[in-house]
Amino acid sequence: MEPIKPRGGPKAPGRPRVADRLELQEQVTELAAQQAAASEVLRSIANSPHELEPIFDTIIANAARLCRAEASALILFEEHGLRFVARTGVADGYYVKGHLYPVSEGAPSARMVKTKSPVHIADLTADQAYLQRVPGLVALVEQIGVRSYLLVPMLKDDELVGGITIVRAHVQPFTDKQIELVTAFAAQATIALEITRRERQLREVQMELAHATRVVAMGHLTGSLAHELKQPLSAVAVNADASSLWLMREPPQIENAKQSIQRIIKAVDRASGVIDRVHSLVKKAAPRMDTININDAILEIMTVVHGEVVKNRIRVQTRLSDSLPRVRGDRVRLQQVMLNLIINAIQAMSGLTDSIRELRISTESTKEEVRVAVRDTGPGLSVDNLEKLFEPFFTTKPSGMGMGLSICRTIVEEHGGRLWANENLPQGALFQFALPPAEGVFVNQIDSVS
Ligand code: ADP
Repeated sequence: MEPIKPRGGPKAPGRPRVADRLELQEQVTELAAQQAAASEVLRSIANSPHELEPIFDTIIANAARLCRAEASALILFEEHGLRFVARTGVADGYYVKGHLYPVSEGAPSARMVKTKSPVHIADLTADQAYLQRVPGLVALVEQIGVRSYLLVPMLKDDELVGGITIVRAHVQPFTDKQIELVTAFAAQATIALEITRRERQLREVQMELAHATRVVAMGHLTGSLAHELKQPLSAVAVNADASSLWLMREPPQIENAKQSIQRIIKAVDRASGVIDRVHSLVKKAAPRMDTININDAILEIMTVVHGEVVKNRIRVQTRLSDSLPRVRGDRVRLQQVMLNLIINAIQAMSGLTDSIRELRISTESTKEEVRVAVRDTGPGLSVDNLEKLFEPFFTTKPSGMGMGLSICRTIVEEHGGRLWANENLPQGALFQFALPPAEGVFVNQIDSVS
């Protein structure tokens, strides 16, 4: 018997049939769409490594679109259930984003927990769990109108961390290719989860390190700080004595006593200002973003290093621009940058015997940036490649840690800025950092700052 010939007669050698060509074209288009989706996901990972929400949103939106599904969601497994963290196209009020749902016996999620494999249900109304009226599934069918359902696991080292679900409102089973595609998206979501977890850990370690070096920097100042606090305290003692003498006079010299008391108040304010600043630099605090006047932040640091400056007989010149845009950042961490640069400058000049010891601090701004410069008249920078100074553990000091400049650069870069070094002419070192101005660059956040 003759085999049934395919319609359209025998295939012409070397020339694909129209149907084959169309299918090929469709495959190419689909592959291009998948590639575009993958690069969109990668872009969103690169753009927001600290934030999972936009990444997950991109992933599930692409999963739904490429698989022609009406809705999709991403869930993360936790000890006590599953948390919906991203969702597209599902009626509001059913799955509440962020809410923790228990894994109900018989539900598709329970099946996935058991098998760690995709759960594909071509028609939910024919599924055992629906027929047995498992509440979650009944709601899925009767309240949301889902018919075809797919749930694919997110696995990390064979451990179930979450899943991606895509659904259709009509019965149309998902193809193997579509299941494969959602599996690939689930792998991307797992990677994103891992990247942000590591990023978070790295930031925590960096914060710890920054805090430790801040404490070390303050350690350099303890002697001069104690001295700095002695002054207002002795002013308090002297003026307290004076005011009681004025009051014991016959008749009491009220006006003079009042002036002595005002001097006491001033001295106490000065001492408590220094203590507050030292405290804010030394205490461990969660990072916070504020809109900052960098000049004020510098002047506060100057009060902290004042004793050290006096002790080392250093002349200080501050030229702070009075038309400086504010910057957005963490005040303490930006002050840490100033503190490190100033302590380095003081230390560099402390060995000078006959040349002038001058510390010059200036601020200026351009349209693009707010710039801070710290100049000294020390021996200057002793390396050929100035970038070396910013490497962790690079130090030329006998008891140096070599972490200061490296941490300063990390802090400045985290604020969207840059930090660099130059020789200061005619003598010494010049360290500068530039930050984007808050206005223009961070307009939205400024609006929300009280
Ligand atoms: P540390 O102060 O512990 O050495 P830093 O990272 O702050 O660590 O500084 C690294 C090195 O950079 C210093 O050891 C020193 O050689 C050089 N350096 C930093 N600031 C100055 C400066 N103002 N003048 C000369 N050299 C400096």
